[in-house]
Formats: sequence, structure tokens, C-alpha cells
Amino acid sequence: MSELLTVERLDVHYGGIQAVRDVSFSLKEGEQATLIGANGAGKSSTVRAITGLETFGGEIAFNGQPVRKRKAETLLRDGLVMVPEGRGIFARMTVLENLQMGAWLRRDAAAVRQELNQIFERFPRLGERQNQLAGLLSGGEQQLLALNRALLSRPRLLILDEPSMGLAPKMVENIFEVIAGLRHQGVALLLIEQNARLALEVTDRAWVMDSGSIVHQGDSQAMLDDDQIAQIYLGDM
Ligand code: ATP
Repeated sequence: MSELLTVERLDVHYGGIQAVRDVSFSLKEGEQATLIGANGAGKSSTVRAITGLETFGGEIAFNGQPVRKRKAETLLRDGLVMVPEGRGIFARMTVLENLQMGAWLRRDAAAVRQELNQIFERFPRLGERQNQLAGLLSGGEQQLLALNRALLSRPRLLILDEPSMGLAPKMVENIFEVIAGLRHQGVALLLIEQNARLALEVTDRAWVMDSGSIVHQGDSQAMLDDDQIAQIYLGDM
């Protein structure tokens, strides 16, 4: 399988602070991966560079093309979609309008309608509230909305930054069911998640970041089984 995303020697600076230092990794079509590491390790800065939200040093290519200087819309058309930390939903638009925004590039209206119905069946709270303002939903419902909006755009690579942040356990479960389903849809995933154990359970490969650099990489399952990793990064005693 060909590489869908390649990151080579990535550096991100904020003034005098170097947030990301010489980071390289790649992801294949349909592959599920996670970036783990403590707060401030540089994970968000890495994915923000990938989606064009930060200027960077090094090279990033999506679908064989450098992302630098490409418009957000072109990247979206190519299938690069991120749900940022804090969700990025449109609070003053309705739930339905938010979902429709996810599908704005699609021309297959009948399939979109069908997918919308499936979303409302699977998550009745979104269905019941489809004509209410999205800003009135609970945090967990907003995260589900953001995730479903992203999926309606038919991504090839979905980047999720802290999807479980601040959510009740039941909601985290709902969110992770959707995330686990990406594998069957052939959608590649790059996940940042404070609950590293959960992140490793739903992915194939992982990179551990510390102080801006990648300090470990390997199979997610192997990391779950590695006592040293478990002690340092998974909070095991
Ligand atoms: P978190 O889980 O806390 O978001 P992270 O691993 O995603 O952590 P980043 O958010 O990428 O880490 O932050 C990496 C470093 O860059 C930190 O030292 C952070 O304080 C700094 N940083 C991040 N954003 C900015 C900014 N806009 N301006 C200045 N410094 C920043």
C-alpha cells in the first residue's frame, strides 16, 4: 500500500519555543495510528502543521503532494479532515446544518440523506435536536456531531485531536465506537488522545512524543504489552 501521509523532519516553532523537533513518520491508506505523550509534548502542533494551521520546517505530503501552500479546500477535497481540539462546530447553526456543512462538497444528495438518517437513528439525541442550535448540545453530543460531520465529508484521513476531552465515560464509549468503526470504512486515522490506553486499543501503530520529539514507535499492541511504556505513559504502577 502506498503512503497516504508522510511527515519528514518536521519542526514547529512559536517564537523562541521549539514545539516540534525533527519529527518524521508516515501513514498508509486505511491505517489507524496514534500520537501519544504528555501535555505539551508537541502532538497538537504536529497535526496542526499537517492541516496547514501552523507554519513549519521540513516536508509534509498528503496523497503524494506537498501540503505547503495548498488551500484548506483542496486538502479537504483530497480527503484530509481534522476535528480539532474543542470540536470546531458551528454553535449558531442547527445540528442538521452542521452535518450538511460536512457534506457540502458532495454531489450524491440521495446518499447524503441516507447517511444523515443513519446518524439520527444511531444517535437519537442528534435526531431529536436536529433543528436546534448546535451550541445547546452537551459537550459529548457536540463531539459526536463534530465526528459525524467529519465523516459525512468522506475523509481518507481523519485527524482527531483529543476527542474524549472532558466527556463522561458513557460518551467516551460512544465516541470510541465511532472511531473503532473507521477501520471497517477504510478511513485512515491519526488520533491524539489523553487516554493513551484507549488510543492504543483502537489503533495499529503508535508514536510516543516527548518534548517535541518522537521517542518511541511501534505496534500499538506491543506498546500496551510493554511494562516500561505502560509505567511511563499509561499511568500503570
Ligand atoms: P496538549 O495535549 O497540552 O495540547 P501537545 O502535545 O498537543 O499538548 P502542543 O499543544 O503541540 O502539545 O504544544 C507543544 C509546546 O508548544 C508546548 O510547550 C506549548 O506550550 C507550546 N505552544 C503550543 N501552542 C502555542 C502557541 N500558539 N504559542 C506559543 N506556544 C505554544
